[in-house]
This record gives sequence, structure tokens and C-alpha cells, in this order.
Amino acid sequence: MRPYLFSFKIGGVIVRAEPSWLFLALLVGWSLAVGFFPDQTAGLETSTYVFMAILGVVGLTFSIIAHELSHTFVGRAFGMPINRVTLFMFGGAAELEEEPKTPMTELVMALAGPLMSLFLALVFSQLAGLGAVGGAQAPLAMVLAYLGLINFLLAMFNMLPAFPLDGGRVLRALIWLFSGDRRRATRWASLAGEGFAVFFIVAGIFLLLSTGSLGGAWWVLIGFFLRGAAKSSRVELETRVALGDVRALDLVTPGIETADAGMTVADFIADKLVRHHRDWFAVTDGERLVGRAGLSEAQAVAPDARAHTRLSAIAVRPGANELLPADVRGDQAFAQMQRHHLQRIYLVDGERFAGVLSMADLLEYARLRNLFADAKLG
Ligand SMILES: [Zn+2]
Repeated sequence: MRPYLFSFKIGGVIVRAEPSWLFLALLVGWSLAVGFFPDQTAGLETSTYVFMAILGVVGLTFSIIAHELSHTFVGRAFGMPINRVTLFMFGGAAELEEEPKTPMTELVMALAGPLMSLFLALVFSQLAGLGAVGGAQAPLAMVLAYLGLINFLLAMFNMLPAFPLDGGRVLRALIWLFSGDRRRATRWASLAGEGFAVFFIVAGIFLLLSTGSLGGAWWVLIGFFLRGAAKSSRVELETRVALGDVRALDLVTPGIETADAGMTVADFIADKLVRHHRDWFAVTDGERLVGRAGLSEAQAVAPDARAHTRLSAIAVRPGANELLPADVRGDQAFAQMQRHHLQRIYLVDGERFAGVLSMADLLEYARLRNLFADAKLG
């Protein structure tokens, strides 16, 4: 498990922050304390600026979580399995486990985040207006005004048609809606995303060189992040789409992947490990799955004990996360493996063992399928 700065559960959704979030929080806090707030009103105590900056960062964190939860709960209302919101160096993400099945679902879900940010912009600006009346409340009013502004900017930035930003998802949903072709919609939206990314990088370098502003460096970083995200989102999305209409069981490579629980470790080494020169087998007792065994389990048994030790004694039992019903779809198996960082998953039909599915099998199938779909599109 990776360490998180904080993690809590709300409405069945885990909200958590990666350590890199701290970098963004410190950067924003620092620029608020020494730049933004002193520029607005000079002559306050340093401690006041620091306190305002801390409130600003807390408010920003709250705002981004609200934005992501808005995507999450709207998505869940459409039946999308979204269980986690993660904050990191470049903002936040509601983690989709599968792709929307219709363009309308994607459209509404993508718009839900920026709409929440616009709503928060309005609320914070109104509160700032109220707070500005009394002079003593001025620092608090400035923080509220900042939060109004930053939520407005968040909505605008996220609505850029640069996949995987929200606006890119809106663009993808619209192309998908009008053309009926999800693959083409994905390609165009991610091309737009990569185009914007290059623009950010070039503009950032220009800013950095012409003004020496560190903000320029930030835009370069965002550009590189967006470029990587556009590309990996496209690959991941294409993989999920390719796996979305096929049964996981049909993707299992047929072959010699099982070993009988009753055989001795000595026989296992001779007849399975060495003969089939592979180091991984599912151990079965009749039709029932017992676990897995391989080279390291066999080597752990002392040589003179191998002839009278049964395979069932050394088989490693699969965890609950490693088991899935045999009738799941390919994209569901893919999501499960990604979620739990698994390389293999066992498909079972009640107690009966149905097969082993590997990540390599899934990726290769999706790759070939997309390759030939492209050829057909020409
Ligand atoms: Zn969003």
C-alpha cells in the first residue's frame, strides 16, 4: 500500500491524497502568502498572510474534492462504478473503473465537475461580497474572493477540449454522439489533448525565457503531464473498449496450466516445471481450485522431502481479490487486475475452476483487436 497524506470515506467513496499533493499545496500556499495576498492588500502582518494562505489551501483542497465528488456521484447515478477520488500534484481525479457505455453518460458526468466549480465560484464570491462590508473581516473576505476566482479558473481550465480534461471528455462524448463512432471520437479528443499539451509546453518555455517567471516552469510541467495523460488515457480507454464486449473466459489461453493437488512435489518438478518449462501452475483437486504453485514453492521443499510431500501442502491459496466469476466481461477482469495490481486472475464457476487469465493475455488481445479495427477504418 502506498502512503497517503489523508484518506477518508464519504458516501461509499474513498477520498485520498497522494504525497505529491503536498507539493501543490506548498506551492499554492507559498505563492498566496508572498505574492497574491500581499499584492491585494499591503501592510498586513506576515502571520496574517500565512494564515490566509493556509485557509486558501484548505479551501482549494475542499473545492477540488467537491469537483471530483460531483463527477463521482453523477457517474454513480448512471451506474458507473467509481469508488475512489485521488488528489495528486496536478489536481484531482475520480477514478473510472470502466468507460461510460453511452455518450450521454459521459457528457453529463464530464460536465458535472466544472458545473460544481462554477457553483462554488458563485457561492464563494457572494460570501466574499458579504464579508467585505465589515473592515475587520477583510482578510477572510480576500480568502473567499480568492476561492471564488480559483473555482472559476478551475472550471475554465477543465473545460479546455484537451482529453483527458473534462472538456476533452465533453468533446469526445459529442463526437461520439454525432458520429456514433467511439473509437474515432477517442482518437480526435486525445489528439486535441496532445495538441494543447504541446501548446502549454511551448508557451511555458516562452514565459520562462521572456519573463523568468517560475509560472512558466509550472506550465511546462502541466504540459508534460497532460501529454502523458492524454496518451495513456487513450491506450487505457481503447483497451477497455476492446475488452468491453468479450467474456473474460474466452480470453483464457487454453493449455497446460494446471497441476493435480495429489501429485508429489518430485513429480511436479519433473512432469510439470521441467517438462513444460514454465514456473507457474494452477493447482486443482478434481474441478476445485486449490491454489497455485511454481518454482519457488517447489524449491522451498527440502530435496529429500519432495518424494512424499503433496502439492496440496505447498499450494498458495488465492486471495479473494484474485477470484472472479467465470462470466465477467474482459474489461471487468482488467479493472480488477489494475485495482489490485495483479498479473493473473482465477476464473471460477461456483466451486469449479474455469481458467486463469493473465494481464498479458488481456493486453495482447486488446492490442490486436485495436490494430485490426484501425486497419479497417483506414
Ligand atoms: Zn473534472
